[in-house]
Amino acid sequence: MSEQTEQTQSGVVIVGAGMAGVQTAVALREQGYTGPVTLLGAEPHQPYDRPPLSKAVLLGKAEDSAFDVDFEGLDIRLRLGTEVTGLRAGARELDTEVGPVPYEALVLATGAEPLTLPGSEGVRGVHLLRTLDDAARLRPVLAAAPAVVVVGAGWIGAEFATAAREAGCAVTVVEAADRVLAGALPAEVGEAMGRWYAQAGATLLTGARVASVEPGRVLLSDGRELPAGAVIVGIGARPATAWLADSGIDLGPDGSVTADAWLRTSLEDVYAVGDCASFPSARYGTRLLVHHWDNALQGPRVVAADILSGGTDRAYDPVPYFWSEQFGRFVQYAGHHDGADETVWRGDPADPAWSVCWLRDGVLVAVLAVGRPRDLAQGRRLIESGTALDPAKVADPATPLKSAAA
Ligand code: FAD
Repeated sequence: MSEQTEQTQSGVVIVGAGMAGVQTAVALREQGYTGPVTLLGAEPHQPYDRPPLSKAVLLGKAEDSAFDVDFEGLDIRLRLGTEVTGLRAGARELDTEVGPVPYEALVLATGAEPLTLPGSEGVRGVHLLRTLDDAARLRPVLAAAPAVVVVGAGWIGAEFATAAREAGCAVTVVEAADRVLAGALPAEVGEAMGRWYAQAGATLLTGARVASVEPGRVLLSDGRELPAGAVIVGIGARPATAWLADSGIDLGPDGSVTADAWLRTSLEDVYAVGDCASFPSARYGTRLLVHHWDNALQGPRVVAADILSGGTDRAYDPVPYFWSEQFGRFVQYAGHHDGADETVWRGDPADPAWSVCWLRDGVLVAVLAVGRPRDLAQGRRLIESGTALDPAKVADPATPLKSAAA
C-alpha cells in the first residue's frame, strides 16, 4: 500500500469521545464526508452527555445519559477505553497503549479535567464530579444522606448542592471568594443568586478557605470545623491537554489549545474543539475558552466544514450560551458581558423570575435569564444581530425584549 493510500485510509481521527468529539463525527457525516472516521475515547463507557450527571443521573432519576447516536449506521469507528498519550505531527500519528494511530486530519476534543483541592487527593469521602463513574460513586452517597461539604460555589457546586438538598443531606458550601460565581458573574448578580442557598436550606460560607480535609471533617483556615460524611470539590476545570506537552502544538497559559477562528491549531490539519480549545472571538475582541455544552455542539460543525472544504469562509464566532438548573430555578445566559457599560435589570431578583441585560454603547452584549426563557431566546437573537436597545424599555419586564429596540 502506498503512503498516500494509507494516509487516505486513516481519514479523520478524533481524540475524545465526549460531546465535542461525537458531534464532530456526526457533523462530518451530515456534511457528506465519506472517508474513515475514528473516535478514540479514554473512558470505557458508550459516549454520554455530561449535564445530566449533576442533575437527573446524580439523583437516580435517569440511569445514564448515553448519546442517541447510531455510530455503526453512520460508519463511525468507536475505539473506547483507548487513552491517547502523545501526538507526533511530523509522522501524522497518535500514540496509544495499543500502538500508533495514523491520521489524515486530526480533531482534538479531550475536554477538561476538574481541578483538585491540594491535600485532599486520595482522602476517603472526597469526590469530584466530571464523569459517569464519578456520578455513579456519588449516587449511593447521596442516597445515604450524610452531611455534605461542597467546596466551591460555582456552577457544579450549586447544582450538586441542589441535588444533595433534594436527597435530604445537610449541605454546607465553602467558597473562598466573597460571593458565589465570583469568576463568572458581576457582584450584584452573584449576590442575588447567593441568596438561593439559604432559601434551599443550604449553608453558604463565603470568604472561607479550606485548610485541610480529613476523613469525616473539613477544617477551615479560621479554625472552624465542619463535619462531612462526603466532600465534593467543584473548584473549576482545566483543559485536558497535558498529553500534548511534547507535541509542539501551541497551548495558552490556561492550558487550552489555542485554535484560530476556524478552530485550526498551530499544527497542520489538526483542529481543536470543545472544552479543550480556546478561539479568538471577533465579536467580543478577545480569546474565549468556553466550558459549556453549546460550544461543544456548535464548534464541531465549523470543524467538519473546514475539513471538507479545505478552508471555508465561515469562521467560528458564536454568541456563547449555557444553562444551569439550581435550587429549583432555570438559569440561562447568552453572550459575554465583559466590556459592557450598562447593566439593566428586568424584574426584582427577589422574585422567582427576572433577567439582567448588559449593553455596550446601547447594544445588547449579554443576557442572564432566571425563569424567563423568552428573554433568553429573544436576547440571544438581538445579541447576534447587534441591535441597539432602549434601556428604559429593557427595564420593563412586561415589554418583550424583541420590542425594546431603540
Ligand atoms: P468532555 O465532555 O470533557 O469530553 C472529553 C472526552 O475526552 C472525555 O470523555 C475524556 O475522557 C476524553 N479524553 C480526555 N483525554 C483523552 C485522551 N488523552 N485520550 C482519549 N480520550 C481522552 N454545560 C452547560 O452548558 N449546561 C449545563 O447544565 C452543564 N452541566 C454540566 C454538568 C457537569 C457535571 C459537567 C461535568 C459539565 C456540565 N456542563 C454543562 C459542561 C458541558 O458538559 C461541557 O462543556 C461539555 O461536556 C464539553 O464537551 P467536550 O467534548 O469538549 O469535553
